[in-house]
Amino acid sequence: MMKKAIYYGIRDVRVVDVPEPEPGPGQVKVKVKYCGICGSDLHEYLHGLFPESPFGHEATGVVVDVGSGVQGYKAGDRVYAMTPGSYAEYTVCPQDRLIKLSSDMDWTRATVLEPLAGAAYAIDRGGVKADDGVFIAGAGPVGLMILLGLKAMGLKNIYMSEIMEKRRKKAEELGATMVWNPREVKSPLKIKELTAGRGVDVAIEAVGIEQTLKDCLASACYRGKVIVQGIFTERAQVHMLGFVTRETTMYGTNSVNPELALKWLRSSDIRPESIVTSVIPLKAITQRGFDVLAAKSEDEIKILVEP
Ligand SMILES: [Zn+2]
Repeated sequence: MMKKAIYYGIRDVRVVDVPEPEPGPGQVKVKVKYCGICGSDLHEYLHGLFPESPFGHEATGVVVDVGSGVQGYKAGDRVYAMTPGSYAEYTVCPQDRLIKLSSDMDWTRATVLEPLAGAAYAIDRGGVKADDGVFIAGAGPVGLMILLGLKAMGLKNIYMSEIMEKRRKKAEELGATMVWNPREVKSPLKIKELTAGRGVDVAIEAVGIEQTLKDCLASACYRGKVIVQGIFTERAQVHMLGFVTRETTMYGTNSVNPELALKWLRSSDIRPESIVTSVIPLKAITQRGFDVLAAKSEDEIKILVEP
């Protein structure tokens, strides 16, 4: 038997004893080192499941067994397992959702690879270029990973808005050009001021609420792009006139590009692991994990669970 955190419903996640999973054909069994709490998991905790629920999908660990037909993995390999159900001592992962890690990669650094890969996917899908000026609405884990990706690409003008002070400080520490509190400064006006009235080439929504979507639409330049990675649980009402007259292009993004993220880790000095604020035991996943994040604690940015 092993311990596993299972989602039963809104604000109801319990750590229970379940049989250890066995790897089926094409699957690999992993002893989990850490599993990161993703913003999408927090949304499920607070608002219920959404399609293709990936509850507990940011796991790193060591291969302990492989199923039939698996090639290229053996016991002892360090891997990233991008598979749901990994708030557990062991998880099984289809081979095509695994990433092999180098044996010297720090576990904390490795565990934020999936969120960095989400940022990589969004940046690549939106076709962001090295000389673009970018506005990122939100400096939570999503916005900070976007920032690091843009830094790895060499962008010089990256502006961010964020309500929480600790996250603003972190964004500054990680190299944002300028960061402000959108409760004090109107983001589109600030962006106009910083770009001589033009607007930014790309605005990236990393929160998932109406106000930040509006800020992004109003901050992008003529024929600019808006990339949306925030998870929306409520409807957003936007005026489409500016979208039409400024000929904006908007992208929804919801996938990962681990190859690009690994390339950034190798080729730049970015430190995505610095967004990790706590490592907590599995038995504390609700009290010290979800409940703390749900309360919008100023102290936490990214929490890792250690089974
Ligand atoms: Zn995630």
